[in-house]
Amino acid sequence: MLYSDLFGKTRHNPPCDADSINAKLLTQAGFIEKLAAGIYNLLPLGYRVFNKINKIIEEEMNAVGGQRLLMPALHPIDIWKVTGRDRTMDDILYRTHASGDKEFVFGPSHEETVTPLACKYIQSYKDLPLSVYQIQTKFRDEPRAKSGLLRGREFGMKDMYSFHVSEEDLDEYYEEVKQAYLNVYERCDLKTHVIEASGGPFSDKFSHEFSVETPIGEDTVIVCEKCGTAQNLEIAEGKVVDPDEKEEKELPLEEVDVERGFSVEDNAKAHNVPEYKILKSVVYNVEDEGLVGVVIRGDLNVSVVKLENYLKKRLRSASPEELEKMGLVQGYISPVNIPKNIKISFIGDHSIKNVKNFVTGANAHAKDYKNVNLARDFVVKDFTDLVEVKSGFECAKCDKPLKEIQAVEVGNIFKLGTKYSEAFELNYTDKDGKAKLVVMGCYGIGNTRLMGTIVEVYHDEKGMIWPLGVAPYHVHIVSLGNDKSVTDKSMKLYEDLKDSGVEALYDDRDESPGVKLNDADLIGIPLRLIVSKRTLENDSVEWKERSSDKVSDVKFADLAGKVKKFINK
Ligand SMILES: [Zn+2]
Repeated sequence: MLYSDLFGKTRHNPPCDADSINAKLLTQAGFIEKLAAGIYNLLPLGYRVFNKINKIIEEEMNAVGGQRLLMPALHPIDIWKVTGRDRTMDDILYRTHASGDKEFVFGPSHEETVTPLACKYIQSYKDLPLSVYQIQTKFRDEPRAKSGLLRGREFGMKDMYSFHVSEEDLDEYYEEVKQAYLNVYERCDLKTHVIEASGGPFSDKFSHEFSVETPIGEDTVIVCEKCGTAQNLEIAEGKVVDPDEKEEKELPLEEVDVERGFSVEDNAKAHNVPEYKILKSVVYNVEDEGLVGVVIRGDLNVSVVKLENYLKKRLRSASPEELEKMGLVQGYISPVNIPKNIKISFIGDHSIKNVKNFVTGANAHAKDYKNVNLARDFVVKDFTDLVEVKSGFECAKCDKPLKEIQAVEVGNIFKLGTKYSEAFELNYTDKDGKAKLVVMGCYGIGNTRLMGTIVEVYHDEKGMIWPLGVAPYHVHIVSLGNDKSVTDKSMKLYEDLKDSGVEALYDDRDESPGVKLNDADLIGIPLRLIVSKRTLENDSVEWKERSSDKVSDVKFADLAGKVKKFINK
């Protein structure tokens, strides 16, 4: 491609509303152009990257037997009513009316489409297993469309659905797809953390997320660098490091007057103790149950999802009004000597077991207890793991310190079981002639998000640094100066490379060397070849890889072989 012909050029300055590196660099380099918040045009350079990502995905999905098809983006609302997701996903559904009264939604996902489709073709066990996928545009009414291609309202997605005779067959296939996903990310040069996911008591536990570490990521992931375990913050398990209190003796309980704020920090300051010495009580309003308290070490936080999983109920923090109604004094709640008329039970996090002489509220305004000890001064209904893990905790598997990272989710896979086949009566006849429900799995990769993530990971202050496998072109030829020998030779080099199957972009513009070299860095094609009067005197080109600072001259005679080797490395 001649750069002078290319639609979508670099801009001098990044767009002023770009809120992320990917939005800034992709727009400035002429890969994407925003139409509205979360809605982007893919320009020819961006579309080339998009297609390369899709080709990788297609090859890997085909390798696990996936058959590519294309389903409609516009869905009659009726199919969403069958599963009830017209209500549960209402906040993100784009709805529209066709002529007449018929309501449609723009599909954010395709379980409601693929399952009735499968009903038409799956009759017997002989039709199974089956796996189909599409690469398609999805729509989500995202209240906070942001971060360029990372969180869009209209975005690209590969979604695959598999159909099986049994859970065992699904399990086996699920592992194959998991590996195929890892292959996709590896071919995009992305290192992913595989996270066993659970979104609380109302989602199934049979899912995995693939996450890439990057500071802009909205997910907090707890990782162990030693054994590679990665967990979602909400449900992460880890060992709290206990303070060394072997020598400490239990002191007599004391009630003291205090003037302090409500935070643990204020509390620790007022009593001149470390924060872990504060016995923190947090009260929740639990569905169908009323108020439930949790006691935990002051320097730690409660994981609401862990508590929901433990209680198997939905919950939220109790409001000040609810506490007051119950007779509890906000900021001074504790399980110690709680008035008999207040009916509230406390659950203990394991972290409180190995600390002596806690400080905690005395259930009255401006009064605290000092030297509070478990068993002697208070009891809890039960102990369980309710702590939100953070950096410094020890890995439950290998004892090494855990680390918190920010990450972007670039894919997820689910064992759906029979949830959708039940809703749409997707049955098959087994060998004994009995009708059984088909077991399903689904597997998603956001391909536009993947493109944004690659830029977030691969860039420097000058621009993008595309991994070879997804780069819009392999080679960026830059001619410096207007000398005819230079432009002729550059054009010949471009034609020769093209003829040998190398994807080349040739910057043939009459621009200053500074502009051309800055643009080459911004666009980020893996290999830059400069032709100038100087290099021609030496019968060579200047070779520079975008990912390295090294510059060298390569003779024209050696160039073809060296370029081939670079591309196929
Ligand atoms: Zn570990």
